[in-house]
Amino acid sequence: MHAGFPDFRLGNVLTTSFTATLTERAGDPVERMPTPQRLVDWLAVNGLVVNSCTTAQFELARELREALHAAATATAMRDTPPASAVHLINARSVQGRASAILTPEGNRYWRLDPDSAVEDALGVIAADAIGILAGERDGRWALCASPTCRAAFFDTSRSRTRRWCDMNTCGNREKKARFNANQHKNVGT
Ligand SMILES: [Zn+2]
Repeated sequence: MHAGFPDFRLGNVLTTSFTATLTERAGDPVERMPTPQRLVDWLAVNGLVVNSCTTAQFELARELREALHAAATATAMRDTPPASAVHLINARSVQGRASAILTPEGNRYWRLDPDSAVEDALGVIAADAIGILAGERDGRWALCASPTCRAAFFDTSRSRTRRWCDMNTCGNREKKARFNANQHKNVGT
């Protein structure tokens, strides 16, 4: 369908699923949202359906993504989020005019204005981020233990001891590296 584009890394936290559209930030960065259409795809996967995205809207999205990354990283390091990032997140939150709609079946969907659907969707993401950055959800901010990743993630595990942003990628890679290192040791002796 979109051959050639890296897959999305989706989790159960909207904010960090969004910041994870750019991974390996501390190594060779992998851009998983390289075009406006990939933003449209990512939004659709997350229940935010927009018909199109202009270059200007795409820039707004990337700007928000980096502001969220900066704010989340600072929070994970027990620092105050940079004022510029906070300003940007608030601006997107204020601009968005999405409506949460409860369906008769008891599900939520987001109604976006067709004329400003991307801005509305970004407002939903910004509001989600404000909620967890403000400590409204049960969990703990941490940085991924992978030295080439270092992504900020929101740990909702009961023990609050999660080490990787994603067990299937960063966690597995580290396990494999450790296994290979041990194999080497065994060969050497
Ligand atoms: Zn990671």
